[in-house]
Amino acid sequence: MGKTRAVLALDIGGSKLASAVVTLKGTIIQKYVQPTHNPNDGVSVFNQLVALSRACLAATSDDIDVISVGVGVGGPMILPEGVVSTLNIPGWRDFPLKSRLQSVLGLPIYMDNDAKAFALGQYMFGEGKGSSYMMGIILSTGVGGGIIALGKLLHGKSYNAGHIGHMVVEQDGPQCACGGRGCLEAIASGPSIAKLYVAALHPGSSQDTSQITSEVVARKALQGDEDARKIFERAGTATGRAIASAASLLDVNLFVLGGGVMRSGDLILNPLLRTVRAHAKLSFLNNLEIRVATDPGEAALIGAASLAISEIIS
Ligand SMILES: [Zn+2]
Repeated sequence: MGKTRAVLALDIGGSKLASAVVTLKGTIIQKYVQPTHNPNDGVSVFNQLVALSRACLAATSDDIDVISVGVGVGGPMILPEGVVSTLNIPGWRDFPLKSRLQSVLGLPIYMDNDAKAFALGQYMFGEGKGSSYMMGIILSTGVGGGIIALGKLLHGKSYNAGHIGHMVVEQDGPQCACGGRGCLEAIASGPSIAKLYVAALHPGSSQDTSQITSEVVARKALQGDEDARKIFERAGTATGRAIASAASLLDVNLFVLGGGVMRSGDLILNPLLRTVRAHAKLSFLNNLEIRVATDPGEAALIGAASLAISEIIS
């Protein structure tokens, strides 16, 4: 009997590194996850990633043939060269990740930003299976997206299509890390939610603000903290505006949402859905659907794998 073909998936972030062996049908058969030990030291992150990849490959049975590698990583990056300057890995600035991985692992490498990878993974194996016009959006440390058109990932001129995090959703809104104002990311990313909550605290408040994350703000909102509830209302409204605008621009009828911020559930979803309903009025948007990907960690690995799998089965 022939060997079962599979790919190695790498999901690379500033706080954790994950590797998995994934079959061409999108099933994870081996998985390793570790905290990123030292994001300030680029060589250390690379060595840790290689060790994690090798451990994953070594633990995979002999009847599995791993033929290529899919890599989802945070931007910015230069593609198709695969030179990364991942924001939350300060040790990587103009780091030639793709060529370094290729020479160490000896397999073809398919790399893209993690939000585009998420979108492709959801189209191939997740909530968007079979929807050849859709968009995937991640609300996490940043806000990113990927567009599927004609059943393929839309890259754009410089591989940067889908940056919905920098769609302007509030006139004169908060300053964004990109240099602009009122971007979705400046309102609905995890760190932005925490920052807006801290800014709303009364001057002289005795709260320790150093430990405030979007999870903490969500907990406070559920406990009846009115400021916290308003911040999620604002984040959901902003995301709904971006989705309604993107839907009419792109004529896609499905959005799949993922990332840690979506764990706040109805706190963000209710204002989001209300806003989409209020703004997406064109007849071709009547059947617009919003779904949430279940497991953010798994969705990221399946996304990375799909970058490689799509090259094999196309
Ligand atoms: Zn921006």
